[in-house]
Amino acid sequence: MTQLTIDLNALAHNYQQLRKLLPQHTKMIGVVKANAYGFGAIEIAKQLVALGCEYLAVAYAQEGIALRKAGIEAPIMVFYPLRENTDRLVQYRLEPALYSTAFITAFKTTVEAHGLKDYPVHLKCNTGLNRIGLSGNEVNDFLDQLPQLPFQLCSVYSHLAASENEQPCAFTSAQIDRFKELQSNIKSKVEATPFFHLLNSSGCFNYPEAHFDAVRTGIALYGFANRNDWDQTLKPIASLSTSIVQIHTIKKGESVGYNQGWIAPKDSRIAVLPLGHADGIQRALGHEKGGVWIRNQWAPIIGNVCMDLFMVDISEVNCSIGDRAVLFDQTHPANVLAEKAGTISYELFTGLGQRIERKYIY
Ligand SMILES: *Cc1c(COP(=O)(O)O)cnc(C)c1O
Repeated sequence: MTQLTIDLNALAHNYQQLRKLLPQHTKMIGVVKANAYGFGAIEIAKQLVALGCEYLAVAYAQEGIALRKAGIEAPIMVFYPLRENTDRLVQYRLEPALYSTAFITAFKTTVEAHGLKDYPVHLKCNTGLNRIGLSGNEVNDFLDQLPQLPFQLCSVYSHLAASENEQPCAFTSAQIDRFKELQSNIKSKVEATPFFHLLNSSGCFNYPEAHFDAVRTGIALYGFANRNDWDQTLKPIASLSTSIVQIHTIKKGESVGYNQGWIAPKDSRIAVLPLGHADGIQRALGHEKGGVWIRNQWAPIIGNVCMDLFMVDISEVNCSIGDRAVLFDQTHPANVLAEKAGTISYELFTGLGQRIERKYIY
């Protein structure tokens, strides 16, 4: 049976580790976008709220709506709201990031149409990532208009381009300095007292001087700091395992799988596992790049990963039908498997298909 096991005790551990790292007044914004990186947004969000997480964040409106429909009452920030969803944001009390003048105009119209004032919003400023956010001039225009806008400015934020770089990093220092200037500019101009935030998970570890009033943590809550030494302080919350459905004995020279992806170099034993690229097991893991752990022994993936199945070489592994095969867990971290596919833990996790059953450990 294939199962993605999610250990909510490990989530609590990671949450506490981050708390220890942060100054007391620094809020935590738990990032649960993309179905909480594949681990189940509702369960993760409920747990984070129970742990004391002050804010939740999602990427798009519909993700916030799903949380509201599940009864989650905590404030929810929406990082990348789209103009066509402004009505739904208001309907579900979701707090958008204002990141462009076009979005600000659309959102103002919607809030006014609902007859509301002081609607909670967050200002997203571009300090060098050049992805999404208001430029310096646009920020000033916004601040000038703010007294007439039906908004309550709850927070102001920006995003580092290279938070994974260790110090010293001139580019990141310049971004931090730009954000500090922005902070003093805004503090001098607005009556509201928004909170300021710049860092994602990696930033929390690498740039403690830039914690400001809040941090936006995703991957670290799920057990990864993107740095070996800091990884040791966290616990991966997810384990993916399956079990052997069939075993074949293969003669030297016989082929296995589509397009004869593997030719047995000697008489071999192979096992078939019920996961494939439709489940997020990338084809890049085929041809012995990736593999599984069976009874703690490495069994490489042979030939091409199929849509629903893949095969591993178990010639050197003493195992039988029904035995567990681990793709990643706390001892075999997912970032190592991701690297074998030429990717990162984020992509591996968010790519795990909905067919995989999620099981929670409370
Ligand atoms: C996804 C996201 C985060 C969280 O990043 P992690 O590296 O997972 O901590 C933080 N801020 C923004 C704006 C994001 O889009």
